Amino acid sequence: MSDFYFEEEEFNTQFNGATLKRIFGLVKPHWRWVLGFVLLIGVVAVLDSVFTFISKLIIDEGIVAKDPARLKELIYLYGGLVVIQSAGVFGFIYLTGILGERVRYELRRNLFNHLQELSFSYFDKTPVGWIMSRVTSDTERIAELVTWGTLDVTWAILNLITAVTFMTIINWKLALMVFLIIPVLVFIATEFKKRIIVQYRRVRKLNSKLTGTYNENITGVRVVKALVREDRNLQEFDNLASDLYRAAYRAAWLSALFLPAVQIVAALALGAVIWYGGIQAQLGAMTIGGIQAFISYLTFMMFPIQDMARVFASMQQAIASAERVFSLADAEPDIVDRPGATDPGTIRGEIRFENVDFRYTEEGNPVLKNFNLTINPGETIALVGPTGAGKSTIVNLLCRFYEPSGGAVRVNGTDYTTLRLDAIQSRIGMVLQTPHLFTGTIRENIRYGRLNATDAEVEEAAKLAHAHDFIITLENGYDTDVGEGGNLLSVGQKQLVSLARAILAQPEWFIMDEATSSIDTVTESLIQKGMERLMENRTSVIIAHRLSTIKRADRILVIENGGISEIGSHAELMRQRGHYYNLYTNQFRQEKERMALG
Ligand code: ADP
Repeated sequence: MSDFYFEEEEFNTQFNGATLKRIFGLVKPHWRWVLGFVLLIGVVAVLDSVFTFISKLIIDEGIVAKDPARLKELIYLYGGLVVIQSAGVFGFIYLTGILGERVRYELRRNLFNHLQELSFSYFDKTPVGWIMSRVTSDTERIAELVTWGTLDVTWAILNLITAVTFMTIINWKLALMVFLIIPVLVFIATEFKKRIIVQYRRVRKLNSKLTGTYNENITGVRVVKALVREDRNLQEFDNLASDLYRAAYRAAWLSALFLPAVQIVAALALGAVIWYGGIQAQLGAMTIGGIQAFISYLTFMMFPIQDMARVFASMQQAIASAERVFSLADAEPDIVDRPGATDPGTIRGEIRFENVDFRYTEEGNPVLKNFNLTINPGETIALVGPTGAGKSTIVNLLCRFYEPSGGAVRVNGTDYTTLRLDAIQSRIGMVLQTPHLFTGTIRENIRYGRLNATDAEVEEAAKLAHAHDFIITLENGYDTDVGEGGNLLSVGQKQLVSLARAILAQPEWFIMDEATSSIDTVTESLIQKGMERLMENRTSVIIAHRLSTIKRADRILVIENGGISEIGSHAELMRQRGHYYNLYTNQFRQEKERMALG
């Protein structure tokens, strides 16, 4: 389906000058390289025409005039220029590679950096696949445009200009005749190619539609049968398939016609040159070498002309790519520091949710409505409740990954939107349900908590987190590679490493989303001990799934439908015999049994 969506986008894109300007703005910092690269292409293109001209001289002044000295001279000149041109070709291909790599690197680096700054809400709205395509294939296309695209265009233009100049020098009347034919050729080439491209795009578009229809019918085969839709579906399929057939037929017809058409016009041009050149030669106004040179120039000019439409089409595509890349690059983070935002130096103290309303998107349903909660300094809060109740949302708001749509979150009485984002987020330690580790060793992953920590401090933190014991049983201990995203470790082990990381960071708030997946009892009790260490004298909010955590919390909040349905300690809530009591007896009975067994 997504393929189809992109085709559509590409299909509608028109040539956009502003975008083109911005694309070339990307190479501005490398203008020296660009200049060198254009100069080299210039040399190569001009020499192409010079060679033809030297061939003319060789024929006229060397061979026809029977002058061996001149012949030798011209051949040496030719040979010398070939060496220069080869050096030029080497140079521009090399520079193209470098320039392309620089542009690609810079674009990707900027996008990467920008992605890190965007708010969570951007990723709610934008599919990861879309972002990945922008960062990979679209940056590639832009780099292609500024390198090979520039090369094609510069080469074609210079080639035409020099060929035209030399033809005028040789015989201006004949040159004039050729110039009258060029526009006809350009016209035919562009018109044909434009149509061919349009047809092929149609084919691609219809093809993805057809694939979609297949897909829908196969996955929905039961429904199709139940609703007796076979006939109607077949009719729809037939319509699509015959559209596809017609478009493909037209594309094939146009492609087949293109080359012969260009060839006929080119042959007519050649015929005209030979005919008129012949007359001129008889009159003594033109040499054999001159006619030969004209024929060469004409053949030569065919390449860029035939190629123009292709270059134009890929330019259009690159511009479409660039527009998408720029739309990503221009996306503004929703949550930014307000002017005059301050860093209070600490976020220890009371946290208060005051009449907080929240929805993820403007059109979406409210997730929290008039939510009130005061968390006392150093308190441990356990959030429990069914999936989708709003527990993660509360944590997201607390960390200011999102901001309230109404009401306020106050830290020590100050609305946190007046504080600097990093003042809050750099003082929070988080351990997620499936913690993310970065590719690298365990030691490096723990050190992310505080980059200047010594090895001894890293190990000390691991000991406090109770991660040390499992780490030393690994083959390479602290230097064990965790694999991509930490996938060589179990979820429990990843949580232990994250706890060590959090301990090293000495955060002022500790937030944890406990793993729901089963964790062996030994690791679980280690995690528990590591958590206790972090919860000590520190405001902690835990999305709790483990009985042991819940029992230890100062207060348990039962969250249902975006609100607090019960609040109190384990003992208090058990006495109330309400939701928590039911939840506890149903959901945690098994775990209790398991723990009793363990
Ligand atoms: P819990 O953590 O208790 O399982 P959540 O806070 O994740 O619940 O979800 C609360 C509600 O908000 C759910 O209805 C969920 O579908 C919705 N929700 C959660 N995250 C998003 C999001 N990023 N965009 C839109 N809706 C979301």
